[in-house]
Amino acid sequence: MTPPIFRKKSDLRAQVREWKQAQETVGLVPTMGALHSGHLSLVEQAKQSCDRVIVTIFVNPKQFNNPQDLANYPRTEHEDARKLADQQVDLIYCPDPDQIYPEGFCTNVSLSGLTDVLCGAHRPGHFDGVATVVTKLFTQTLADKAFFGEKDFQQLQVVKRLVSDLDLPIAIHSCPTLRDPDGLAMSSRNLRLSDEARKTAPVLYRVLTEMAQGLRDGGATSTLAAQARDQLAQAGFGEVEYLDLRTCGDLSPLEYATSDCRLLVATWLDGVRLIDNISV
Ligand code: AMP
Repeated sequence: MTPPIFRKKSDLRAQVREWKQAQETVGLVPTMGALHSGHLSLVEQAKQSCDRVIVTIFVNPKQFNNPQDLANYPRTEHEDARKLADQQVDLIYCPDPDQIYPEGFCTNVSLSGLTDVLCGAHRPGHFDGVATVVTKLFTQTLADKAFFGEKDFQQLQVVKRLVSDLDLPIAIHSCPTLRDPDGLAMSSRNLRLSDEARKTAPVLYRVLTEMAQGLRDGGATSTLAAQARDQLAQAGFGEVEYLDLRTCGDLSPLEYATSDCRLLVATWLDGVRLIDNISV
């Protein structure tokens, strides 16, 4: 059976209040829709540790710095609802835009430092949009736990920091990146790759994996990143926005691997921006 789809925060709140009165724990999986197995793995983890699971689908205009990217973002609500029915999700929240950004809305949740680097440096305003919408989804759903993918590693760190800094009463759970069999990290944006580009795309994970091994063997980021950039260019990738080794928590740059670091990349292929990251 298709889960109920709520579009008003008052309806959502009424349902969550009932669950809370029955002492049930509520898990939240925020998404922008066009759901794939990566999203569904988050739902799976939420189902395992919460009595009730809410999936939100909201293509958040505030986190798109490029209007064309927002216009092109895939929207597949009907199919998404079917997939979530198979997973026995309790409620889908697809808020009407005014439920998130009512007329006159002028509050911005903004972090510094953590959001100035990597994707933040290339997508001005993106993480303000993420932080603002996530804060609203937390307060609207009153969820006990929220589930985020490591696929968006910087976003995960931003959300953890936000929750800690603002004492938001919610636990953040991180979930590993799901990949297609050829290694490409699943992403809603992969739908926009041409057949040919889709064949090239797994090179990204291969290059990342090789570079991580080089770092584990004691290699320097600057040398290995230059080689990796050449490999990506030869394979047909466009601009590499960043290919960086960073500490996990505060995302400071590193020249050599430490015990707690992450290799992160953002690049373009066939007009599609792809991001990925792996543990070193
Ligand atoms: P999005 O709809 O792209 O905003 O993603 C919603 C959530 O799903 C975020 O927490 C993402 O990190 C997570 N996610 C996206 N792709 C994957 C993936 N391939 N594996 C695991 N989680 C993912």
